[in-house]
Amino acid sequence: MRHFSLIHALGGKLLTDDLEWRPRLRESVIVQTDGSTLLFLCTADRTVKRFTADDFVVQVVTLLDGSRTVAEIERLARGGVANGTERVREALGEADGRELVREVLGVLAAENILSKAQEPAFAGLGAGRADFYDRQLRLLQDFCDEGLTPERSGVGLQRRLDAATAVVLGIGGLGGWVALSLAGAGVGRIRICDFDRVEASNLTRQVLFGVGDVGAPKVDAAATRLRSHNSYVEVTAVNRRITGPDDLADLVDGADVVINAADQPTANDVADWVAAACWPRVPHIMGTGYAYHIGVLGTSIIPGRTACWACVRAETFADHGRHRMESLVGKREKAGAMGALCGLVGNVLAWEAIRIITGLPPALGDRWSEIDFWPLEIQSRAIPKRPDCPVCGP
Ligand SMILES: [Zn+2]
Repeated sequence: MRHFSLIHALGGKLLTDDLEWRPRLRESVIVQTDGSTLLFLCTADRTVKRFTADDFVVQVVTLLDGSRTVAEIERLARGGVANGTERVREALGEADGRELVREVLGVLAAENILSKAQEPAFAGLGAGRADFYDRQLRLLQDFCDEGLTPERSGVGLQRRLDAATAVVLGIGGLGGWVALSLAGAGVGRIRICDFDRVEASNLTRQVLFGVGDVGAPKVDAAATRLRSHNSYVEVTAVNRRITGPDDLADLVDGADVVINAADQPTANDVADWVAAACWPRVPHIMGTGYAYHIGVLGTSIIPGRTACWACVRAETFADHGRHRMESLVGKREKAGAMGALCGLVGNVLAWEAIRIITGLPPALGDRWSEIDFWPLEIQSRAIPKRPDCPVCGP
């Protein structure tokens, strides 16, 4: 249990004197009062924060919905908007009400209970986008409010998605889910590449295709589906068989992230070509796959930050047995698979791509991760940068 007057010094000076600021609590926070106890139920991480609080503080907290300036909050709290006017006056005494409001805000800010957004929710996106992305914007705002990014506004993160280019290589059982989730999230430009045609045996797990698409080029059917999923997204479809890094140069040029979900002619060859085409400019998510009850989440290669693909190859190919990547990724063609399971892998990769695009810390760098679908557990092993690596070393 904490008391406002004891810890206000933590954050009381952090706050702006901006007269136009309209503070509000984080959307994920639910407030309950119990006598002189204020409870903040933080639904984002399922923690509960308790404070003792006098009636003035309780009044202030109930007014933090983003519609009032600090001056208005002070005036309304002083007047005792709901009830208990006498008690509020008693609690306030001779104190400077404006200063007390700032102290309360300082404590809430230090505890990550206040929203960091300085602009009204969804400002500047336009009515159509604001409505389309409503639920996602609430989540993005909460990432900002939690301090996971220096960005203060969820709208700012949405704009980064909107301005980004993602490349999905291979749009089958893995890439299809990746592309669909990136389109739903509003990644502004999505380039997809495949050379196959849709087969009936694809449909159980390749989410972009329906019965009517059998026989059609995959990229054409996929582009139609993605455009209908989110009309704010620009889709470029490239029908091409990849035979070397040169075939990838124009595809990855200027991209913010590349997700390699291609496995032809072999998963290992195409992975090496993707790494060669992307290094050292473009982040690439590599080594992905699924077979039977193992999903390979692979690794994120972020030039200048994580171990490179050559380091991953050196580490994983030195192994035998459980972690021998070649046996898992190289033989997945025609391996047993189900849409529910490869969708799980594809969406982890899409989430990683969204983190890279928005500047949220990525989760799959410097490690090799696999999900075992049966116990539903993720196992990871560290992939260190080799100190003498000719690619990513000093
Ligand atoms: Zn390296």
